[in-house]
Amino acid sequence: MPIRPELRKYYGVAHRAYRLALIAARGNRCSKCGQEVTKYLNLAHTTHDPKRSDVALMCPADHNRHDARHRYAVWRRNRARRVGQLWLWAEVQWAPYPLWLIPPRERPAPDKPGDLF
Ligand SMILES: [Zn+2]
Repeated sequence: MPIRPELRKYYGVAHRAYRLALIAARGNRCSKCGQEVTKYLNLAHTTHDPKRSDVALMCPADHNRHDARHRYAVWRRNRARRVGQLWLWAEVQWAPYPLWLIPPRERPAPDKPGDLF
């Protein structure tokens, strides 16, 4: 999945160094299936928020599976936005995005976390 331009800054040298440090500390095994991965072991954001440090080492197949629902949710919302769909609630429109990417006036109230998918 290509990294969106507004998020690329979170996948620089520091991200790559962190991935290598984690592999050195934990070994080159996928945290989902346990398979040893000699190449392309991914550092996946478990919450889909690159600003947070919740990460796991995953093989490409498990990383793809982990991101599938999120990718589908973003794709549906982008498609709906392109055709001018109106939203019943802002929380539905913004559900797959991290809170800090949501315009402040459209952020869900603190008692509604907005995790709808
Ligand atoms: Zn795996």
